[in-house]
Amino acid sequence: MSQSRSLPFTPRTLLLTGLALLGALLLVIGGFAAYQLWPRVIDTSALAGEGEYRLPVPEPGAPQVELGYFVTGQNVSPQAFIFSGGSLLKEHTSIFSGVVVRHPEATFLFEGGIGSRIAGEFERNFSGLNAKLFAYEGRTPALEQLRAAGLAPSDFNFVLLTHLHWDHAGIIKDFPQTPIRLLEAEYEGAVTAGKIGNPGFFPEQYMDPAINWDFVKLDPVPFGPFERSKDIFGDGTAVLVELGGHTAGSLGLVLTRSPKERYFFIGDVSWSAEAVSIPAEKTPFARSLVDRNREETARTVALLHEIAKANPGLAIVPSHDEAAFAALPRLAAAAP
Ligand SMILES: [Zn+2]
Repeated sequence: MSQSRSLPFTPRTLLLTGLALLGALLLVIGGFAAYQLWPRVIDTSALAGEGEYRLPVPEPGAPQVELGYFVTGQNVSPQAFIFSGGSLLKEHTSIFSGVVVRHPEATFLFEGGIGSRIAGEFERNFSGLNAKLFAYEGRTPALEQLRAAGLAPSDFNFVLLTHLHWDHAGIIKDFPQTPIRLLEAEYEGAVTAGKIGNPGFFPEQYMDPAINWDFVKLDPVPFGPFERSKDIFGDGTAVLVELGGHTAGSLGLVLTRSPKERYFFIGDVSWSAEAVSIPAEKTPFARSLVDRNREETARTVALLHEIAKANPGLAIVPSHDEAAFAALPRLAAAAP
């Protein structure tokens, strides 16, 4: 008896210590979950003085661009993983999209989702947790879908990319002769990111002297609240602007078919048009994985939120948002 009394831990203190540890663990897990899921609305008041949010429309009589999108892969997750305040109970389908754009002066591919070499690239560049986090259900790479629509790489005057993350840059080598358009700052940023081992980039997709880069130079011509822009055809139907925050030089594209049918393709600044309408950031875990600069990304989302409000008829279309793409025409298969 006297021996057991002298033991440092009685069954009772062991039980209490265990309960205390369990409580602490639950607090940590609960705190982490609350931090991830707590809804936060971006404060748009910081944009005061940004000025004009309306985006100019093309002159009447400007040619009508035709577009058709396709989906090369997808994954499904709770909406709560996509943006801050999203529901844990609602499913969100993320897609890897591409859009064929036809203008009388040129046919171009805007993004292309998954490239034909993705399986090997994924295996060589992702392992462990990253391989699980970024897993997707493969469908059909861009090249095959374009072929089914009667299109070959030689039919495209250029390929336009918003940025060089792995799920956007995989199509570059599928278009070996085609000019690849993007901001030079994005290319430089991706080269640096590759050197320091940033997991969002697969250098083998873009570190090749044979690639026919055609860097976009933005003109000092304002477009709504953006100080610089590139009017691709000079008629206002397809205008590029820089969207800060997600990567070193992400591009956004505004396509106008009519004043009532306009699309603002925003790349990965947000994964969800619903999030832009709130406006809400990505969840803390997601943005720490994929966004280069949190404050700048949030500011861009706030800006897009104001632009969407000021431009009826303009749809915000994030690269990966299946729900936003549902309003667009699909790429039609070639006649048999
Ligand atoms: Zn991205």
